[in-house]
Amino acid sequence: MTQGAPPSSLRLFGSPGASGMAFGPALVIEQRSLPIPHRQIAADEVAAEVNRLQRAFLKVKSELESIRESLDPQSEAEHRLLIDAHLWMLKDELFFEASLQKIRSGKCAEWALREAGDAIIERIRQASSFYLRERAQDIEHLVLEIVRALRESGCDGVEFEKAAILVTTDLSATQLLALPRHLLLGIVTEEGTSVGHLAIVARALRIPAVVGVKGALQHIANGTPILIDGRKGEVILSPTEYEEGCVHEHPAIRSHSPGPFSKAPFLPTTTRDGHPISIAANIEFASEVREAIAEGAEGVGLFRTEFLYLEGSEPDEEHLVGTFIEAGSLLAPKCLILRTFDLGGDKLPSGDNHLAKRISSILGTRCRHALGMRGTRLAMRLRDLLETQVRAALRAAAEVDIRLMFPMISTLDEWREVKRLVDHVLDALQQDRVPHRKVPLGAMIETPAGIWMAPELSDECDFLSLGTNDLTQYALAWDRHYSSTEPPFLEPSLLRMIAHVAQVVARKGQALCICGDLAFHPLAAPLLVGLGLRSFSVPPSEIHFLRATIARLSLSECEKAAQSALSCTTQSEVKQRALQALKPMLGGLWESMGLVL
Ligand code: PEP
Ligand code: MG
Repeated sequence: MTQGAPPSSLRLFGSPGASGMAFGPALVIEQRSLPIPHRQIAADEVAAEVNRLQRAFLKVKSELESIRESLDPQSEAEHRLLIDAHLWMLKDELFFEASLQKIRSGKCAEWALREAGDAIIERIRQASSFYLRERAQDIEHLVLEIVRALRESGCDGVEFEKAAILVTTDLSATQLLALPRHLLLGIVTEEGTSVGHLAIVARALRIPAVVGVKGALQHIANGTPILIDGRKGEVILSPTEYEEGCVHEHPAIRSHSPGPFSKAPFLPTTTRDGHPISIAANIEFASEVREAIAEGAEGVGLFRTEFLYLEGSEPDEEHLVGTFIEAGSLLAPKCLILRTFDLGGDKLPSGDNHLAKRISSILGTRCRHALGMRGTRLAMRLRDLLETQVRAALRAAAEVDIRLMFPMISTLDEWREVKRLVDHVLDALQQDRVPHRKVPLGAMIETPAGIWMAPELSDECDFLSLGTNDLTQYALAWDRHYSSTEPPFLEPSLLRMIAHVAQVVARKGQALCICGDLAFHPLAAPLLVGLGLRSFSVPPSEIHFLRATIARLSLSECEKAAQSALSCTTQSEVKQRALQALKPMLGGLWESMGLVL
């Protein structure tokens, strides 16, 4: 916002989600999140709430049935019995009817369900039989499952009568993909962080977003005009005419359609003293390749291919081959690094399609969980899909320059299983006499285990790529989706882990890229260069900033700042020392970008 602004309206702050400004009426949708909302509903909302509850019951029922089908009748008979009990409870008319009555008395679906469930639990707890008392826990699980299903449907069928800024408790990347983009001016969520996949997809789609705005739903009423600044993470309620004018002063960043790409001819990135640094692009959709090229990307360092599976049903082999060849041809002669689909966690298909059912039968009730079944581990359980994707990549590689990397590799066993799968696909292609090409294979290091296995992994991989969004999450037990703090990117522990990998890989003369959001953090990026990173991959919109940052620094300045950071013991100390060391060279750039560090 321009300096000297007159006194203004109420402001709320969250984290930067996707940069850009938007102004418009708020469309407030209360995503039915835990804790259970206590919302009184009007008489004309009853039918819609009843409908939501019915759909949630059906969804949980179909999930439980798929899980039951996937269990072995002999060795998993006990689990099947447990699921039968849950299914039986779901069919209990009294439970459903009691919830309906509460909706009719003016309570939202979650509230009604909670009260109906509590009443049953209370009765069961008073039973004399220990066995029956134990069943209270089952009812509790079931209530939570139905609440989750209600929550997931919270943004289904959001009615956009006109262009608006969506204000909601929580939104997944998949739900965002289902919203009408031409009417979605911006997004404000109470949950979420700047490295969650909602923020990543909003950036890719150029939809300004502010995430993690605590109390947003309490303060913003439906229809209130709001102004959001995604870069600052700020929401202004009922802005003054002056503040509103700021959006129009910045037409280049207010739009949610692709911005004016820099038309500058491609120049390789170097430090001020001429050391080359490669900057490639992270993309979520093949359509972003043009923007990546226009911004001067030296290739695509991370194509998050899972989004091909989240916008509907799973793509078939021919569709994948076509997509990869098209993206690779646009990019030629530069290289396209495909990451095999990284589903799980906050990236799950929605709805009732075949893939959604398969995944829910694998994840069971532990869906949207950051631990366990994620990334390559989950992909291995969807082996036919993974083989199809690898096959498509190897076929496309006959025509364009492709590399393949696998997400969340933590152990050597996981990597060897990946290699066996690729070899199997290669044999099949050979036998079928289908044109294809063997491609370099890489592992993404995203867990502390991966860090410590880097020497062995780098012996068996063609390249490594550091996924620092997840590494930050798993190294510091910092929840990537539900944290209320900014990512602790400058923690010395994180920098020391990266330094370790960089040294190992450099000793072996291997290639190491970094593709998490740390790579374009204004203070961390120079430290990464100082730690030995020479290959970065960042969202297209960040290439210009990263290039300008690197061009202002000499390699020895970066190395000195990095060594100093490694000797720090706290994040604030790292920040303070980095600011002190870098401000003389970068202060002007930060100011021109409106960055306050
Ligand atoms: C990462 O974890 O840093 C990464 C690049 O992968 P994603 O953000 O898609 O999990
Ligand atoms: Mg990751």
